[in-house]
Amino acid sequence: MNNKSTLSHRKEEPENGILYLVGTPIGNLNDISQRALNILQNVSLVACEDTRQTKKIMNKFNISNKLISFNKHNSLIKIPKMVRDLKHGKSIAIVSDAGMPGICDPGEDISNSARSEGLDIVCIPGACAAITALVSSGFPSSNFVFEGFLPRKKIDRSKILLEISKNEKTTIIYESPKRLKKLLKELYEFCGGDREIMVARELTKKFEEQVGNNINEVIEFFNAKNVIGEITIVLKGINKKSDFNINKSSMKKDLNDLINAGLSLSAASKYLAKKNGVKKSEIYNLI
Ligand code: SAM
Repeated sequence: MNNKSTLSHRKEEPENGILYLVGTPIGNLNDISQRALNILQNVSLVACEDTRQTKKIMNKFNISNKLISFNKHNSLIKIPKMVRDLKHGKSIAIVSDAGMPGICDPGEDISNSARSEGLDIVCIPGACAAITALVSSGFPSSNFVFEGFLPRKKIDRSKILLEISKNEKTTIIYESPKRLKKLLKELYEFCGGDREIMVARELTKKFEEQVGNNINEVIEFFNAKNVIGEITIVLKGINKKSDFNINKSSMKKDLNDLINAGLSLSAASKYLAKKNGVKKSEIYNLI
C-alpha cells in the first residue's frame, strides 16, 4: 500500500489500481461534486448498487462509462473479481443508490477486501442522510451515535432501545416509512414522550420536511398520515443533570438508606455519584 503522503498528492484524474468510493446525492442531484463526476467519467468501470439509479446521474451530467451491478446479492462473486481487476491496474468507482457507499449500503466489504490486499482506496465524499439530518436537527453534534437501521429481532431491538433511552449522546436512526409509526411508539415506551426528537423526511428533495419537537408531538403529527419517502430520525441525548433533578427525592432516600446501613456520608455519596453519573458534591447537597 502507498504511504499517506503519496495519496495526498494524488492528481484528480483516476489512477490505475485504485478503488474509489464515490458519494452521490441523497435526493437533489445537484449535490453531486465535480470530483465525483470526474471520477465517474474516467475510471475503468463503475460498480453500482442499481445501474438504473446511477444512470440517472450519468444522464443528467452527460457522462457515459461502463456500469456493472454490485450489491448485497452478488457481492461474494463480484468482490474477488474486482480485487483482481484492481491488481491488474483497473480503477473502479463504487456507487450506492444514494449517499455514501458503506453507510448502510454496499461498499464496506469491498473496501475491507481491497485494504487487506494492500490496494489503495480513495473516498470522494458526498451527501450522507445521517449527517445531513444531524446537522439540521441542531442537537449536539460533536459526539453522536449512528445506529443505522435498528435490528428487527425483538430482543436485540429492545436492548438497543434501552441503550438509546439512557444515552447522553445524540442518536441517529434510519427507518423505512412503513415502520416509522411502530418505531415512534417504541421510542415513546423506552424514552418517554418528552424526549426531544427530529424526524427528517425527504432531505434535500422538493418536499423535505423536518418534524419535531418531542416524541409526543411527532407521534401526533404522523398519526393520521400515510407516511411515504425516506426517513432519518435524530434523537437528542438525555440530560443527566435534569434527570438528576427529577430523581432527587429517590436519591435522597437511597442516601439515607445507605447511611442507615452503616456507610459514611462520604462513602454513600461517592457510591451514588458514580451510580448516577453526577458529582459527589451534588449528592452531598441533598442533605
Ligand atoms: N448510504 C446512504 C447515506 O449515506 O445516507 C444511506 C443508505 S440506506 C440504504 C437508506 C436510508 O437512508 C433510508 O431508508 C433513510 O433512512 C435514509 N435516507 C436516505 N436518503 C434520505 C433522505 N433524502 N431523507 C431522509 N433520509 C434518507
